Amino acid sequence: MSEYKLIVSNWKMNLNFNEAKSLIKRLMQLKLDNSNVKQVVCPQFLLIPLISDLTKFSKIEVGAQDCHFEENGAFTGENSVKLIKKINCKYIIVGHSERRQHQKETNDLVKRKVINILKNKIKPILCIGESLEDRENGEYLKFLKKQLIECIPEALSEIIIAYEPIWSIGTGITPSIEEIFEVQNFIKNFLIEYKEIKKLIFLYGGSINSNNFNEIINNSYVNGALIGGASLRFQEMKKILTIC
Ligand code: PEP
Repeated sequence: MSEYKLIVSNWKMNLNFNEAKSLIKRLMQLKLDNSNVKQVVCPQFLLIPLISDLTKFSKIEVGAQDCHFEENGAFTGENSVKLIKKINCKYIIVGHSERRQHQKETNDLVKRKVINILKNKIKPILCIGESLEDRENGEYLKFLKKQLIECIPEALSEIIIAYEPIWSIGTGITPSIEEIFEVQNFIKNFLIEYKEIKKLIFLYGGSINSNNFNEIINNSYVNGALIGGASLRFQEMKKILTIC
């Protein structure tokens, strides 16, 4: 168990400069009683310098939504971990299902990114999650195990894993607490048995909003959340952060 709740906003490819500035300023002004919350905001790349600058004296930390697996080189359009670090990102989301789907990212590529991120002393937030088909035909744990085997490098002491079932992302459908717990337990045991990783920070992601957040976060095995759509709406985030 981690001692704090990690709440990660994945803004995806949303918000212009003014909208991002306005949202982050309102989030920074929130007076939260709870010091138990660590808030990370992951904007699209062009917004990161602005958000990093605005949050530099606040408790909000900044993350990126992706990176390249090489240090540098002829990779047109890509972003290096070194520069991501320079603009003050402390976390990088990796292996998000939208990238696996649209950019055809494989487990092997995700693993190379994780290795590069760790080399640069940033924290990867590794996303895994099964399709509806795998959930329905009962193959989901097998699928998740393959992702864990192939995406996680050796010799880690701790890891942040975001369990994001693909059928839940942006659909309004969430798994039951029992289903989330089953996966959390499965991952925890897998990490001990196969990877000798003792500390798991387990996030849930997929259609989280202020109505379902309470139930999910109060399942004490969830250490936090990765939030997409709802993270773009200040009132939603205010309620979510207050519940933590
Ligand atoms: C996500 O894509 O990481 C996510 C959790 O999205 P949403 O909250 O919109 O389902």
